[in-house]
Amino acid sequence: MPHSPLPPMPAFEAGWVWLAGAGPGDPGLLTLLAHHALGEADCIVHDALVDDGVLKLARPGAELIHAGKRGGRPSPGQPDISRRLIELARSGKRVLRLKGGDPFVFGRGGEEALALVAAGVPFRVVPGVTAGIGGLSMAGIPATDRHTNHAITFITGRLAGGDIPDGLDWTALAAPGHALVIYMALARLASIADRLIAAGLASDTPVAVISRATTRHQKVIETTLAHAAVDSRDLEAPAIVAIGAFVRLRAGLDWMGAMEGRILDADPLGTDTSREAV
Ligand code: SAH
Repeated sequence: MPHSPLPPMPAFEAGWVWLAGAGPGDPGLLTLLAHHALGEADCIVHDALVDDGVLKLARPGAELIHAGKRGGRPSPGQPDISRRLIELARSGKRVLRLKGGDPFVFGRGGEEALALVAAGVPFRVVPGVTAGIGGLSMAGIPATDRHTNHAITFITGRLAGGDIPDGLDWTALAAPGHALVIYMALARLASIADRLIAAGLASDTPVAVISRATTRHQKVIETTLAHAAVDSRDLEAPAIVAIGAFVRLRAGLDWMGAMEGRILDADPLGTDTSREAV
């Protein structure tokens, strides 16, 4: 049976900015709406995190503008990016502002949207798969599981100045039963682990570091809080760090590993006592 036709998509009107998430890398994880926008936009202002495979889906002739922000490399400042979006929209272009993951998760999408509001430029927000959710799924770690965590906390490991955030309640984060997902943490993993251990989190708490999730360069390591910084030193950014008992579920759910022969443990938490009786 043929596929059903796609639902009608909103028109991308001249003079509008669409602030869209491109997902963590794999173009297959774009939303239909982001894909539609790629095919319609006159210009696409994108971050370094947006995968080339996604940009290839742009309408032929669309202008691609790199507004990359990537540790170390000189990049346009935030006010410059917002000003550029406003200028492009005012010149009558259909402007796609494309960000890695979800535009409103650690991506300054809110700041850019507020600049558009201040300038009176109409805009739409298109959510995307954020790395902290998509990356976990790729690694076979459910973001929540009733046996391990009833909540999950997304944290940035880095402030604009490069330091780890100070205003966090590390003692609360270190409480048992928490699941933490830290973005932008790779370079500061040693200090983050030290803080959590000092705040009371066991040094053998399971940790997974997921590098370049959903791309063909994806790498995942499983380690503990005490060893995370050393064990992840060869991994490349971008990476997310998952900390907590939920990481143990990967022993049962590493579906990508299974495709390469990893034997999955159907009872990774050792909770299924009924199995012993069988
Ligand atoms: N808006 C993005 C986050 C931007 S902050 C989102 O929702 O995903 C940049 C951080 O996102 C990186 O330092 C890294 O922690 C994470 N990240 C983005 N893409 C990633 C990927 N493909 N694999 C692992 N981490 C990624």
